[in-house]
Amino acid sequence: MSTNLMNQWESVIGLEIHAQLATASKIFSGASTAYGAEPNTQACAVDLGMPGVLPVLNREAVRMAIRFGVAIDAVIDHQSIFARKNYFYPDLPKGYQISQFEHPIVGKGHIGISPAEGEHREIGITRAHLEEDAGKSTHDQFPEQSGIDLNRAGTPLLEIVSEPDMRSAKEAVAYARKIHSLVRYLEICDGNMQEGSFRCDANVSIRRKDDDRLGTRAELKNINSFRFLERAINYEIERQIDLVEDGGTVVQETRLYDSERDETRSMRSKEEANDYRYFPDPDLLPVAISDEDIAQIRAALPELPEQKKQRYIDDLGLSDYNAEQLTANRDTAVYFEAAYAEGDSAAAAQLANWILGDLAGALNKAGLDIVDSPISSPMLVQLVARIADNTISGKIAKQVFDAMWQGEGGADEIIETRGLRQITDSGAIETLIDEVIAANPDQVEQFRAGKEKVLGFFVGQVMNQSRGKANPGQVNTILRDKLK
Ligand code: ADP
Ligand code: MG
Repeated sequence: MSTNLMNQWESVIGLEIHAQLATASKIFSGASTAYGAEPNTQACAVDLGMPGVLPVLNREAVRMAIRFGVAIDAVIDHQSIFARKNYFYPDLPKGYQISQFEHPIVGKGHIGISPAEGEHREIGITRAHLEEDAGKSTHDQFPEQSGIDLNRAGTPLLEIVSEPDMRSAKEAVAYARKIHSLVRYLEICDGNMQEGSFRCDANVSIRRKDDDRLGTRAELKNINSFRFLERAINYEIERQIDLVEDGGTVVQETRLYDSERDETRSMRSKEEANDYRYFPDPDLLPVAISDEDIAQIRAALPELPEQKKQRYIDDLGLSDYNAEQLTANRDTAVYFEAAYAEGDSAAAAQLANWILGDLAGALNKAGLDIVDSPISSPMLVQLVARIADNTISGKIAKQVFDAMWQGEGGADEIIETRGLRQITDSGAIETLIDEVIAANPDQVEQFRAGKEKVLGFFVGQVMNQSRGKANPGQVNTILRDKLK
């Protein structure tokens, strides 16, 4: 599609994120929430929807929801109500899901995103409510039957609903990543998208740039990575623009994203949508939340990404960009802080550069998370210290880094066994320089005739002769002296 045509349209996106809360047991029963058990071994009478059983609310799930609410500056009501959301599906044995409708635990809040370097936007969060997850239907285990696994039934979810405040797929991804990072900092969700602990549904509509009314939206489901989130939204925006430009109209519907074909397909239209007949669940009392409860939870909050970032800038002198990158992922911040604590304050910028540069690159290439890095924090500290105390040059440090990555040991060990120690003995450097000068009389002439550039040639020769080990600063000074 021509950019010209795209330019007349604005896209509008709102996200619904389901974060599985990291409680040990389910939201209304004592059954375990551990992932990966044999089917139906972690579903008790409550999760099975047996008659006569009663749900008992998990206090920890409520606490986690409030933790989230406080972190996004949200309104927390003093009373929160659970409601039944009625629909029929084989993996929902009770015939209703316990969720929240009116009076969700977390009301209006907001979060800041930076979709690109130096850009900042506030995104409104409409609400976040608690609900139980449903079971799973499996269609690949038995030839002519579907299987039902109720291990997941009753797992606590926090559904986080944003305002339709995003204007591009990039912004939607930045928002989703921010929420992902936050729930991990708060330790209320493990964030594992492959296992479905963090799921995003995207609502997408378009409108003419000068229009301030919202267009009809499609809801996209079945997205299990940030990459697919971006692709699904972009596909959908183009589909809607094409449709409307061709004289059609967007209908309100749910669409499934197919990552193999990179397209969205209609799943059900609004006419087929369920009428959930929400009503307050008579089995559960309203949840009373006091100001004291909220204050306690607020006081126990860990340092959040924004505060951490500011501290890195103010106290450690890191750049805005590096501070943002180091704090975007909690594991990266933990790695950096472990390294930093071992080193001294002057090392902060160096450490940041290594973590965000060579280490991030190597991890990315190997498809590893930083928690599985073969180079630990203390190992990186040692490397940076050897550069600082002039044992090795920055260039040789790259060699040492690679050797550490390959498992050859720590920096000191590698420097010794490979003989990489920097030559700082000026006598030894002078000898090398004398040899190089004697071997290149033409270039000496050129330099003396005013061709400054030739100095680089000499430095290169001396460094080569020393196999990269001569201290480059010393080489420079002594060379200038001798060439004069
Ligand atoms: P439902 O309960 O049917 O899912 P909601 O009103 O709760 O509907 O909205 C769900 C999500 O859809 C929210 O994140 C909201 O921001 C988003 N949304 C609502 N209207 C639009 C629209 N016209 N375009 C894009 N997103 C929208
Ligand atoms: Mg919805």
